[in-house]
Amino acid sequence: MDKRVFLSPPDMGGSEPDYVKEVFESNYIAPIGQFVDRFERAVVSFTGAEHAVALSSGTAAIHLALRVGGVERGDRVLASTFTFIGSVAPILYQNAEPVFIDSDESWNLDPTLLEEAIEREKPKALILTHLYGQSAKMEEIVQICEEKGVLLIEDAAESLGATYGGKQTGTFGRFGIYSFNGNKIITTGGGGMLVGAKAEDIEKARKLSTQAREEAIWYEHTEVGYNYRMSNVLAAIGVGQMEVLPERIEKKRKIFEWYRESLEDIEEISWMPEVEKSRGNRWLTTLTFEKTDPFEVIGALERKNVESRPLWKPMHMQPLFRGARAYGGGVSEKLFARGLCLPSGTSLEKEDVEKISAIVREAICS
Ligand SMILES: *Cc1c(COP(=O)(O)O)cnc(C)c1O
Repeated sequence: MDKRVFLSPPDMGGSEPDYVKEVFESNYIAPIGQFVDRFERAVVSFTGAEHAVALSSGTAAIHLALRVGGVERGDRVLASTFTFIGSVAPILYQNAEPVFIDSDESWNLDPTLLEEAIEREKPKALILTHLYGQSAKMEEIVQICEEKGVLLIEDAAESLGATYGGKQTGTFGRFGIYSFNGNKIITTGGGGMLVGAKAEDIEKARKLSTQAREEAIWYEHTEVGYNYRMSNVLAAIGVGQMEVLPERIEKKRKIFEWYRESLEDIEEISWMPEVEKSRGNRWLTTLTFEKTDPFEVIGALERKNVESRPLWKPMHMQPLFRGARAYGGGVSEKLFARGLCLPSGTSLEKEDVEKISAIVREAICS
């Protein structure tokens, strides 16, 4: 490839610079202003979430969900082990104790292990990741959390627009979070959103995100807060990106289909599934090889100027979490050893996907 192919680069819709210009003209270069409100309303209207607060990152959104949800020092928090660090680092910010749960054949959280872990650990909360844009088994997971009184926080950082039973991921639990980091399906360059079913939760998060200032003319503080609010400039980019989100989802799904068609005769390849009743956004096209070493394929793609990556290294394998308890582990360990993320940027065309597939095929056969 002449030009480097990235894994999932930003893809602007067109109206973003106009909105940013409006921000400049209004001089609201601050974490307040009409675009922050508009961005929150756009996400609420698209996802059907009740309430939303725009933040500086998805990680900040998870931190606030734990904080508002009452997770404190020493509490146990269950989490998907097969995820990205931003999903679980906030457990440590709260001095709580992470306990990891393996995936099942869906690649997402195993509901049977979840039940077992809740029985033994008596956790306060579960952070559930919808990986690579594919919904977890929501019917089972929601039912288990409700029955056992476990606070459900959905990490939908990668799955904006994915649905289960027609309902958007991120809107099943008391809290859901989205990320607008540079590589996500839509981006503000960096940012996140916390959504929730209860107005008072989101109002509390809004207050904590702006240094927990009390109502007074002077700066009055009774509790510790954070500087987590999203800037109006970035929210303007977000408003533009929300306009093209439905197109981006369809394109990601198409890219997945192109890869699958190009490589369908290779029997050792398995693709990330889409669980029954769900429709993913296919943020990244991901697969596993039965025999081929994925790191060989990553090397072959790199030599042709194409970026690809292994699947997430499970959290229970990370030195940071040495000693943490894990339920199961073998499924995600195998996925990590055998898996690959292919370039899935929404500006790719069919012929790009075919060229990339040809490099993969050659690496397998050589
Ligand atoms: C990107 C991501 C996050 C964190 O989002 P940031 O906005 O980068 O802080 C959390 N969880 C998962 C699964 C992610 O992919």
